[in-house]
This record gives sequence, structure tokens and C-alpha cells, in this order.
Amino acid sequence: MESRYPLGLDLTGLDSPSFVVDAALLEKNAAVMKEVGEASGAQILLALKGFSMYSSFPLLKPYLQGTCASGINEARLGKEEMGLQVHSYSPAYSEKTLRAMLEISDHLIFNSPGQWERFAGLRREFADRVSFGLRFNPSHSETETAIYDPSAPKSRLGTIADELPEGFLTEQGVEGLHVHNLCEKDSPSLLRTWEAVERVFSGSRRGELEGLKWINLGGGHHITRPGYQKDILIDLVRRIRKDYKVEVYLEPGEAWALNAGYLVATVLDIHKNRGNLAILDTSASCHMPDVLEMPYRPHILGSGEEGEKAHTYRLGGVTCLAGDVIGDYSFDEPLEVGDRLVFTDMAIYSMVKTTTFNGVNLPSIYLSDSRTGEHKLIRRFGYEDFRSRL
Ligand SMILES: *Cc1c(COP(=O)(O)O)cnc(C)c1O
Repeated sequence: MESRYPLGLDLTGLDSPSFVVDAALLEKNAAVMKEVGEASGAQILLALKGFSMYSSFPLLKPYLQGTCASGINEARLGKEEMGLQVHSYSPAYSEKTLRAMLEISDHLIFNSPGQWERFAGLRREFADRVSFGLRFNPSHSETETAIYDPSAPKSRLGTIADELPEGFLTEQGVEGLHVHNLCEKDSPSLLRTWEAVERVFSGSRRGELEGLKWINLGGGHHITRPGYQKDILIDLVRRIRKDYKVEVYLEPGEAWALNAGYLVATVLDIHKNRGNLAILDTSASCHMPDVLEMPYRPHILGSGEEGEKAHTYRLGGVTCLAGDVIGDYSFDEPLEVGDRLVFTDMAIYSMVKTTTFNGVNLPSIYLSDSRTGEHKLIRRFGYEDFRSRL
């Protein structure tokens, strides 16, 4: 039977709710990433969008080549807290934001020929310090959920082949091509995506890829998931490096912190409405918005599906939103007020997406280590964090 607590971590006495990230599990992921980087020759970046817990950056730093940012504040966080390469991209830049990002980036990616041409002056100004790329949209879908599919019809993310005149990359001196098309995918998805890219840049267009300095294959590679086919990724990266004589970058977010963190919550009340209800001191809406947005069902240690174990509850959050429901879960023993529940895989796309909707407090943050059993409190939040945003 699965324990109600993670291996090696005693969570009693920690703040509730709190995010608990296990340094041991982070390092385990990071070692896999580094191994893939070394075997393939790819440079691997951390996409801050999915995981920005900078107190863990000293631990991750030996395993990666830099960070990638989707906005000015991520770029700055990467520069200040990681201090390695900074690759920046945004679907569109204002002149002010672009200038600020150029001051701290070494690679910068434009989304469209329009933005590329509009900022020719700034490109010239920073040409000796920044390598400029263009995001290509291969119009090849691998992701079923439309809101996570950059290749969905009418997607604004990247430039499709029809909008990229032949010879553009070479004539304009584009140094890098960026292709991000995946979300939680195994390597065959990347292989098919790359084949879609090569179908466009073949024949008379092949020289456009050969003239590049780098190709960035984006994120969404679930490299640290059990069963991920690393060999296919490694072979593909090696082939691209050899065929086009380019540097290859990968910029996963999720994979770095996959299954490396928890959200600890406490049962505040139990009552009934056509079934058992439990109200927790956390919230889907405030603390794990992807549960509602994606949507998905997070796992709770020691729990089963509705009706699978003896006692089923609908778990709800502490906000006034009727839909602030995490899901229906069953347990061997009845839940009691004060019980702690541990949600798994909460390091990614949760801490970066929290809100203070309803004035709900943000979860505390711990960097823990299951090798030693230690917990280090990183942040505890309060009224000022709510007030300062409004
Ligand atoms: C979201 C995103 C990533 C990271 O994706 P993961 O699914 O977290 O690996 C990398 N690059 C770009 C451009 C992205 O939008």
C-alpha cells in the first residue's frame, strides 16, 4: 500500500499549505538531463516558465548550460540567479521590453518576420553581444490539448512556412531557428516534428539550415519520465549537429523538476451533500490552477479513484468559487479534520502559477532533502504579498 507520506520526508510540523521540493529528486532528474546533454552534444537549458524556484539554482547549476525566458522578468531572474546563458523569446516585444531583454540575453528569438524587420536597428546595435533567431512553426501537431498545441490552426506561436519567403533565413542573417512544438512528449514526437521542419527546408531551401549557427528544439521533452526513449533524442540531436554543423539547444522546463515536489495541505472540515465533502486549506484555483485549466487530476499519496477505497470524498478548496474542486478521491480510513494530504508532482507549473484570488494566502516554500530528512524554509507569505499586487 502506498504511504500517505513521501519516502524520506517527515512533513509533520511544516506550514500548511506548503510546497515542498526534494533536492534529492531534483538532482536525480538533473543527472539524467546532463547525461543526455553529454551523450548528444546538446546544450540543455532550464525553461523558467515551468520552474523558477531560484533557491534551487545553485543545486541545478552544475548540470545545465543556461536558462530560457519567455518574458523580461524570467530573463532577469535567469541572469541574476543562475548567471549562465540566457535565451529569450516572446510572442511579441515592445521596443522598451526588447531593449531590456537584450541587455541581459545572449540569444534572442523573434516570433515573426514583422518583428524581425521592425527591430533591425536594435539588432544591429546588439549584434556583437546577442545571437538572433526566429521561431518557426512547423504546422505539425503532436499535442492533443489545443491550448498546449503551438501548431494548432491559427496559432500565433512562430512563423509558418507560407509566411517565410524562400531565402529569408540566409538573406536576413538569421543565426538560429527555434522550434517548440511539444508538451509532455516522448522523443518520437520530436522526431516527427523535426521531419516536418526538414520537409520545408529541403531541396533549394536546405542551404538556409546549413547557414545557421544554432537550432533550438524547444521544450516539452519529458526526458526524466520513466520509459522516455532517450536514444531517439540523442541520435536525432547528433544527426542535426552533424548534418547542418550547428549547435543544438534543448529547453525543457517540466523535465527538470518532474515528480520532484509536493503540495502539502490539511483537511479543515468534512461535511456532506449527496456524498462526503472535505474542504482543504489549499485551492485548485489559487495553488494548482492547472487542475482547472489543463484540466488534470493530481495524485494524492495513499489515495485511490472515486470508490476504489472504502471512503470517498470530493476534495474542495478554500475559495468561494463553486468550481474550486480538486476531484473525487478515496482513502482506506475516513478523513479527519487536521489530516494532512500530500499532492504529488507539484513543483512544476504550480508554484509559478499561484494567485492570491479570494485573498487566500500563498503556500510556504520549503527546499527539503530526502537524503538527510532536512527541511529548509525558503519563503512564508502574508498580507503584504496579497496587498502589494493590487
Ligand atoms: C513552455 C515552453 C518551454 C518549456 O516547456 P516544458 O513543457 O515545460 O518542457 C520551452 N520553450 C518554450 C518556447 C515554451 O513555450
